[in-house]
Amino acid sequence: MDLKISGKRALVTASSKGLGLGCAQALAEAGCTLIMNARSEGPLLAAAEAIRSAHGTEVITVAADIVDEGGRARVLEAAGEVDILVTNAGGPPPGYWTDWSRDDFIDALDGSMLTPIALMQALVPGMMARGWGRVVNITSRSVKAPLLPLGLSNSARAGLTGFVAGTARQIAGKGVTINNLLPGVHDTARIDQMDDAMAADKGIDRDEARRIRAASIPAGRYGDAGEFGKMCAFLCSAHAGYIVGQNIVLDGGETSVTI
Ligand code: NAP
Repeated sequence: MDLKISGKRALVTASSKGLGLGCAQALAEAGCTLIMNARSEGPLLAAAEAIRSAHGTEVITVAADIVDEGGRARVLEAAGEVDILVTNAGGPPPGYWTDWSRDDFIDALDGSMLTPIALMQALVPGMMARGWGRVVNITSRSVKAPLLPLGLSNSARAGLTGFVAGTARQIAGKGVTINNLLPGVHDTARIDQMDDAMAADKGIDRDEARRIRAASIPAGRYGDAGEFGKMCAFLCSAHAGYIVGQNIVLDGGETSVTI
């Protein structure tokens, strides 16, 4: 399918690895010019070069912390006017509800709620003025059903979800859509860390931890960043203009809800 976004300019934050990289790759395959971002320069430059040679598309890189105001300003300056915005950053750490301080909550809100909101506030007005735009926020299935050790994520991402629900409906008439993609368990460095923690806890190795986790997913496997990215590219496509303010779960059926 031709996604009809060839030549569009797309900013994908936190995109040197994992789900953000999957989204960047799929948008490049669809012919978009990219602005990619991550904190560490080496992996970012390597990811950008791989995309350039695979798809022949222009890729601008900005090594910066997207959660930091100054870092975000540098990314926005390099990005200029974009047609497509995919927001992503690292998720809050796990823990137990009695242990989190006010500062822990502020950090989680900064990373998982206020940063994507700041990016939308900076870039969506231009999209509205030009009459076309797409925003996809990478959130988590934790907004549909809580993940018990991830209370900081459950809380902060719920805030972003509420913001998107109202804002998406305020701007849809200007040709701009905002939707959220909710990953379940995808095969990325973050999930490797979680599998290692589970393995250490149970006295097993990572492969065994992975086998146990995969068996709890109806699809019987982890997702991969490539299939996640293709869904993101579809939401950014010309064909997705009637999908407004939705929360689309990509989790192999793990979140057991009827709607
Ligand atoms: P990942 O494989 O660890 O990749 C994270 C990417 O984001 C890297 O490129 C990293 O590069 C960059 N990054 C992290 N913090 C950043 C920051 N402050 N500023 C700029 N770049 C930053 O993680 P992932 O699995 O793709 O997860 C992406 C998001 O989805 C996270 O919020 C995670 O909580 C959420 N999620 C993932 C899953 C899953 O199954 N993978 C499930 C639910 C939710 P640098 O380290 O160089 O900055």
